[in-house]
Amino acid sequence: MEKEASQDNEIELTKPLYKNGKYENPWKTWHKPSLWNLLKFKIRDVDHSNIPTQEELDVTLPLVKLDQEKLKNPDPACVQLVWIGHATVLVQLDGLTILADPIFSDRCSPSQRMGPKRYRAPPCTIQELPPLDIVLISHNHYDHLDLGSVKKLISKYGPNLHWFVPIGLKAWMTSIGCDRVTELSWWEEEKIIGKQGDVTVAFTPTQHWSRRSWNDENKSLWGSWVVKGPNHSFFFAGDTGYCDGFKQIGQKYGPFTLAAIPIGSYEPRWFMYPQHVNPEEAVQIHIDTKSKHSVGIHWGTFKQLGCFEHYLEPREKVAAELQRHGLMKGSFFTLNHGEIKCISDGE
Ligand code: ZN
Ligand code: ZN
Repeated sequence: MEKEASQDNEIELTKPLYKNGKYENPWKTWHKPSLWNLLKFKIRDVDHSNIPTQEELDVTLPLVKLDQEKLKNPDPACVQLVWIGHATVLVQLDGLTILADPIFSDRCSPSQRMGPKRYRAPPCTIQELPPLDIVLISHNHYDHLDLGSVKKLISKYGPNLHWFVPIGLKAWMTSIGCDRVTELSWWEEEKIIGKQGDVTVAFTPTQHWSRRSWNDENKSLWGSWVVKGPNHSFFFAGDTGYCDGFKQIGQKYGPFTLAAIPIGSYEPRWFMYPQHVNPEEAVQIHIDTKSKHSVGIHWGTFKQLGCFEHYLEPREKVAAELQRHGLMKGSFFTLNHGEIKCISDGE
């Protein structure tokens, strides 16, 4: 892994650092939390999420029944999107159906008995999903890579389902039965043949980290994904703090028809800012990546995920931030769980 940035058509493309078997963020904006700050966060911080009863949630954040007809026959003129919940999205683009960071389990944790629990159910089961072409994984944290969901996806779609994962994660994926895994480092690409022509899938940077157990911190990389088809394009930001990488992604691959950008789990700010963007920074990523439309992800689904802001605040702050920038209302939107939206380039 090269330390220095490389030139690609005069765009500076920053690569991850790799030292002693571990990846490192190359960004000046990255700070690893000290043990003291970690303790202070665990002991002192107060949960302001105020998650109400299911009855009230049915009004403020309703579950929408999945429209199976629309999923079976996506309009080829647009990018069709469903928010399954948290960072999980299903996107249909240029004849391709893509699932990103699938989690359908009750908890994002090594155990289904403890750990952050869902307060909004997924709008469908894995069995109810349409035929899939590819699955994108941003990194190995439990809220983005869920063992139970991977196993159910393998049993529904077979071992030949095509997974795209960060470098360092292929061995884990194959150990649980995924036969077709492409692992990439930042700025590496693979072409796949879509029904409407070639589609480029590229792995791109974020500012984050990885860990599944006590001894594997940062042994696999983290990042975002670009899917560029003959007519439309999609950017999946996964989980990230704010960094210079997004301007580089916009320069190399933008503009995008649609981006999925995290907007939640940002409080307390003093602790979370290196690894999770707030809504203000999420809107800056929307601008940096030259996305025509963006959807807010990584909110409204799990309790106790360092998610100490009020549960509806991410949605409200994104709308306020759009106004502050003078951006078109609805150019960065949020959905209810299960809601489908069709997006065309021209809108
Ligand atoms: Zn994460
Ligand atoms: Zn996350």
